[in-house]
Formats: sequence, C-alpha cells, structure tokens
Amino acid sequence: MAAKRRAAKRSRSAGSGAGVPPGYNLVRLKDFIGNQELVSRVKRASLPQSALFAGPEGVGKKTLALGLAARTDCRNRSGRDFCGNCESCLKVAGGNHPDIRLIQATGASIGIETVRQLTREARYRPFQGACRVFIVDQAEKMTREAANSILKTLEEPAETSRIILTTAFPNQLLPTIRSRCQLFGFRALTRDQLKSYLEIRYGAEEAELRAAFAGGSIGQALQLDLERTLQDRDRVLAVLQQWLANASFARLFESCEEEPMRRDLKKRERVREYLDILRHLGEDLYFLRTGTESRMVNLDRRGRLLELAERVDLDWIQDLLYHLREARGDLDRNVQPLFCFETLWLKLAGRA
Ligand SMILES: [Zn+2]
Repeated sequence: MAAKRRAAKRSRSAGSGAGVPPGYNLVRLKDFIGNQELVSRVKRASLPQSALFAGPEGVGKKTLALGLAARTDCRNRSGRDFCGNCESCLKVAGGNHPDIRLIQATGASIGIETVRQLTREARYRPFQGACRVFIVDQAEKMTREAANSILKTLEEPAETSRIILTTAFPNQLLPTIRSRCQLFGFRALTRDQLKSYLEIRYGAEEAELRAAFAGGSIGQALQLDLERTLQDRDRVLAVLQQWLANASFARLFESCEEEPMRRDLKKRERVREYLDILRHLGEDLYFLRTGTESRMVNLDRRGRLLELAERVDLDWIQDLLYHLREARGDLDRNVQPLFCFETLWLKLAGRA
C-alpha cells in the first residue's frame, strides 16, 4: 500500500520540480470519470469561444479543459477524442504547447498583468494548431482589475482564440463575466464512481475509505493523506467517546494537554481539521440513528460509532452539529483556536 502511494505521489508531482516545465495530467475524454452527460455534450460540439466550467473542487474541470485544448491540435484524433501520444498532445502534457496556456494564481490572486498578457496573446493567430486556448484556473481569484480587463476579450475574442474559465465559486465572479461565457456545470462524483476509479490504484478497502472521506472530489481523494487523517480521526473519536462516557471537563482539558493535541490545538488550520473530523463523526452518528448509514464516512469505525449512537439522541447530535458550525465561525473570525475547541464542549454541556 505504501509503495503504491509513493508511486501515485510521484506521478502526480511529475515534472513539478524546479527548472522542469510543469507537467499536466491529461485524461482522454473516453476515460473521464463522472459528469458523463457534460463530457458527451462537449465531445459532440466544438469548443465555444468563451466557456465557464463551474462546479465543486477536484471534479476534473481543469482536466477536461486541458483535454479539450489538447484535442484542438491532436494529430491522431479519433472518435472526437485526442490521442494523448502524438507530438502535440505530449507538448500539452509537458506544459509547453505554444498555443495552449494554463493560467493559475500565484499566491492568493491572479493579477492584472497576467490577464493583460492573456488578452494581448489572444489577439494573435495560433502558432501551430487551429486555435489558441487559454485556461484560467480558479478564475474567482482574478482581482477586480484583472476581471475587468478580461471582459472585452471574453465578449469579442479573436476568431482563433478560445477562453475557458474554471471555478468552484461562480458567484464570486462578476455577473458581466458569467453572462459572457457559455456555462458548463460540473457535479460532485458519487461515492461509487470515485470508489471504482480508486480501486485500481489503492485496492478495494483503501478505495472505499478514500471515496468516503473525499466528498465527491477526485482531487481530494488522491491528495488525501489517509494515514494522518485516520490518526487524527481516532484522536478526535477518543475525545468524543470520553466525553460521552462522563462529560468531565477536567478529563477533556487533560486530553487537550497531551501531545500532539496540545501542539495542534494552538494552530488554526489544525483545529479547523479537527472540527471537520468531529462534524463527520457527528453526521455519522446521525446516519446510524436514522438508518441511513450508507452515507457514513467513518466506515472503518462503524462498531464504535454504533455504541455511541445508542447513547445519544437526535437532539444531542443536532446540538453538536450546531455548536460545531459556531466554532467554525469563531475560528474564521480569529478567535483563539484552543478556545474555539474547548468552548464547544462547554456549550454542549450547557444544553442540559
Ligand atoms: Zn494527440
């Protein structure tokens, strides 16, 4: 399992080292997982001049955009798909096809200079293919100036230029950008779709867990550090178990003082992760109590969770989930991380 994981890691990060051109993961249209209706729609049609690929993180928006870009210049196109092996496809995969540009945020945003360069290049004829394709990944990260400066190009692109914006947050784009693009809506993958895709790489048992933890995102399922996630989960589950056994603050604060909890609870990002894990555990208790356990995430701890589910009622679970949302909000409002975590339990005790 570890060797497979290392291999998977290598193939994901291939070509991303310093001085090496970036490598992109090309997936042929026939091998695309999920969103099949959308894929066959784009397969039949030619690429619109301005397109918006909108949908959750990690479901293949950028991958499909790159695939469609590769198709415009593939030398061995068959069945409206690109081949992935010809000189042109290899250039796309290597990130050095002269007509295909993938624009990504450097740091938190995509600035006006980057977009100005795009709009300049979009006026030129292609070097070797039938058209130039510009993909702006996470387009919501364009600054307001950058977004304004792309409007005209979206409205009247050169005959031979195509622009694809991708985003998981379409509402954060200017309405004038949205209205100038043809919209393609992506959906989260079902757990079964994810599982069957992951099985080849990880085997049935690990694939099932990854699919459960990934919430419909291939990207997340592949990037997930499963070992660490399960260790974190067991730590949070132990706190929850202890709490439900005797609801003792003294004992709770003690376990918050044990390493690595003590160190982690000082960090905002780690507490955010712990709260997410606790939310999944709370939801699993809910699924167990309501007979909808096929939706559970922590499948490998079903037995322990079932014991806990018998000790709590639905009101308690609702309260837990409510106070978790509050704790998440406090965390985002810069309340001290440890305080967010500890007061959650005080609030839960206060309900009685
Ligand atoms: Zn090709």
